[in-house]
Amino acid sequence: MTEQRSGFIFRPEVETRAPAEQNARDRAAYRRQIAYLVEHSPFHRAKLRAAGFAGADAAGDLERITQLPFTEKDEIRASQAASPPFGDHCAAAPDQIVRVYSTSGTTGEPCYMPLTAKDLAMWIEISSRSYTATGLRRGLRMVSTYNAGPFVAGAAIDAFGNIGACHIPVGTGNTERLAKALQLIRPEALVCTPSYAQYLGEWLRGRGIDPAGLGLKRISVAGEPGGGEPAFRAAIEATFGAKVCEAMGIGDVAISLWGECEHQQGMHFCGGDFVHVELVDPVSGEALALEEGAEGELVYTALQREAAPPLRFRSRDHVVIWTAPCACGRRTLRTRCIGRTDDMLIVRGVNLFPTAIRDVVAGFRPAVSGALLIKPTAAGTRQEPPVPVDVELAEGGVAQADLAERIEAAIRAKLVVTTRVNLVPFASLPRSEYKTKLVKPNLDKH
Ligand SMILES: [Zn+2]
Repeated sequence: MTEQRSGFIFRPEVETRAPAEQNARDRAAYRRQIAYLVEHSPFHRAKLRAAGFAGADAAGDLERITQLPFTEKDEIRASQAASPPFGDHCAAAPDQIVRVYSTSGTTGEPCYMPLTAKDLAMWIEISSRSYTATGLRRGLRMVSTYNAGPFVAGAAIDAFGNIGACHIPVGTGNTERLAKALQLIRPEALVCTPSYAQYLGEWLRGRGIDPAGLGLKRISVAGEPGGGEPAFRAAIEATFGAKVCEAMGIGDVAISLWGECEHQQGMHFCGGDFVHVELVDPVSGEALALEEGAEGELVYTALQREAAPPLRFRSRDHVVIWTAPCACGRRTLRTRCIGRTDDMLIVRGVNLFPTAIRDVVAGFRPAVSGALLIKPTAAGTRQEPPVPVDVELAEGGVAQADLAERIEAAIRAKLVVTTRVNLVPFASLPRSEYKTKLVKPNLDKH
């Protein structure tokens, strides 16, 4: 499983496999996984029984998976709280667990995710495929800005070693050290969040360092949506003179599960043999066909996990998918994340993702810095127009008379939503070395 590849595709026999052949393999793996769950996971056994599936045979084949109940993150959290340490969904014996990761707990108590040795090896394999797609290679010097600590990024770091990249970890929260590494070691690749890439460009320029002169060839971004937004991506690419490819994972399923190749036509699915993907309507939960251009929420089922196998796990990631073959040779599903369904606002029936506004605003560079803050005036998802948006001017920038109106018009034309753009001075909005919050409710006005 850890054999290394020198080509552009980490595991060609899986990633270039015909979809029909993949499906046949997945069907067999799925039957084994469901039988394993029914036998070893009291949580899943009870849920399936409550949904009318007395045993594994009643659950049927992979084609019938859409009849099984979803698993929500809150259920996993409740299962963990009710039977600590790992919850009733844990299907492995305690002495099989070799690694436990935690989520950051931004929406509740942290969740602890147990992995067996086989689970961990699987994660590293999937992540290796994903990061190879984004351009990492054996021998290529790369700087990473992720913390290995309690979070799943630790497994990403194992994947960099598995690929054979020359990895220089600098961690999160030390831009000074990162800038030194970029100048002294001259890495060819940088791994960071898209908002940190944006921040780093400004930081370097503010100190008289030209980001495009550092010799970076590839920036592999992950951790939040945005790396694939055309204008936002173009701005980062122009700043650094490097190609930006994005990766995406989900802690409960696999740390880096999707990776975009050099053709930048969406992130390739990298979990072949290990994970089954579905697309569902985020509101009704109804299954959607995996067709070119389809939009919806990703739902994941593990096919070979031991410790805490997700079954129809709702990701809350709202994506568009593509199925047409890619010029790189991979035949896997491709996706772009439009946003988290949790961050979505609904303005007079129109779904609005903060990252979509950021992409429109990025098109107004160099007049603006690209930083922005959406300030909903009502609690909850539903908002009345106009939605207030603070947009930051570029460094030394002076607002042209009609700039705010032009941005409002562009957002309205592209996203069918009315906003009220308020231009604010450079560096007045928050920046982050990890993920930047794009929405801050402004509720005292009501
Ligand atoms: Zn490709």
